[in-house]
Amino acid sequence: MIVTPAHLRTLAGRAEALAAEVWALPDTTPDDSPERAPVAAARHSADLLAQGAESLRRAAADLAAVQVEPCGMPWRVCPEHGNTLDSQAGVSTCRVCRRTWSYDRADRPCQEPVTWKVIDRAGTETKMCDGHVLGARAAVAGATFIRLDPAPA
Ligand SMILES: [Zn+2]
Ligand SMILES: [Zn+2]
Repeated sequence: MIVTPAHLRTLAGRAEALAAEVWALPDTTPDDSPERAPVAAARHSADLLAQGAESLRRAAADLAAVQVEPCGMPWRVCPEHGNTLDSQAGVSTCRVCRRTWSYDRADRPCQEPVTWKVIDRAGTETKMCDGHVLGARAAVAGATFIRLDPAPA
């Protein structure tokens, strides 16, 4: 299992709820009661829980910033021009910009970050990168293309 920002935000929400429950404990212990100190200590733990929630939210934001989802499409594209590659002897050349790539690591899935969600007419969702979406636009008729927000906060 990989840790996702959503996972951390869920935990932060639980810590916040727990802090709120502790803060909601009745504060009715008389000042001269021997119960006063332990109850005060329990209430203080709510502050720690709230701090923990805050730090979980910060971690979620940091994680979202570094965790880009790779595209994973098995076919090759030019990241800027899409399905414009001519391949010969292990070298692919973009017909538009003439950039070349040598693919001795053959069939490694695309490592570009996911930036689009494509929904075909059958309702199947596929996430892909800029280059792949260009290729898909040409290849998939009647699909819906949705630009994804950069790293959700
Ligand atoms: Zn190109
Ligand atoms: Zn891709």
